[in-house]
Amino acid sequence: MKHGVLYIVATPIGNRSDMGQRAIEILSEVKLIAAEDTRHSRHLLQHFNIDTHMWAYHDHNEQQQTPVLIERMLSGDDIALISDAGTPLLSDPGYRLVKAAHEAGIKVSPVPGPCAAIAALSASGLATDQFCFAGFPPNKSSARIAFFEALTKSRATQVFYESSHRVAASLADMVTVFGGEREAVLAREISKTFETIHKATVAELSQWVQEDENQRKGEFVLVVQGNTQQQASTTVELEQMLAILMDELPLKQASGLAAKITGRKKNQVYKLALDLQAK
Ligand code: SAM
Repeated sequence: MKHGVLYIVATPIGNRSDMGQRAIEILSEVKLIAAEDTRHSRHLLQHFNIDTHMWAYHDHNEQQQTPVLIERMLSGDDIALISDAGTPLLSDPGYRLVKAAHEAGIKVSPVPGPCAAIAALSASGLATDQFCFAGFPPNKSSARIAFFEALTKSRATQVFYESSHRVAASLADMVTVFGGEREAVLAREISKTFETIHKATVAELSQWVQEDENQRKGEFVLVVQGNTQQQASTTVELEQMLAILMDELPLKQASGLAAKITGRKKNQVYKLALDLQAK
């Protein structure tokens, strides 16, 4: 018998008009919809006149439900997986099911659509050639600081999910770990009435959120510039560069140029140039 297909269907993250036509078709046609919260998804499905049977599939029952759903697909039923909002598996349940489907030789087919992380990144104005989706930082400050520390060296733009309860604390810890100067974007309530896309330095964002209670309401994606200093050369390489430039140019010009090339701070390079000159 032909196996069924597992469809991974993205749904809106705040604006129902973002529901895709293909998502509507697939959700109407499959035998069963595995949904993170059936009560929550019922409103969405009713809005689009979809009356497919729903089945609860969430963090607390996925271990028991995965083999049952796999069995259904092995016997020919198509199943769609949805989460409360956005793309399933992105900080949402589904990993276990998709992994098990692959292992069972079941076709897995994505139905692409909204995802808060990608939406925020696309509007951030930060580099998109390399990015790291880091999900939710830990709740406790000590664990959160360690989590950020593990990311400090990465050149990739960092994308975090955050809740209204912790957005201020997370930004404060980012200032501690990443420093206040990196560019960052707070993307709040994407596609909803109070959508806010605010770009500033990490320190400015932190202060803004501390001072304005309204900026702590709703759902958040924080996008933070990667470590541009990483591209910078080592101190030894910087010294060699400075030595060459200082042979040809006045000290201030040479150090300014070296700072530009390496992405290091001007005053830091200037001090190094003075030390070199004094040697
Ligand atoms: N799977 C979803 C996706 O594709 O975006 C994310 C699910 S995760 C449980 C929920 C988190 O996503 C929220 O706490 C928030 O960080 C982010 N999020 C979801 N919708 C959002 C929105 N409209 N604006 C900003 N962030 C949002």
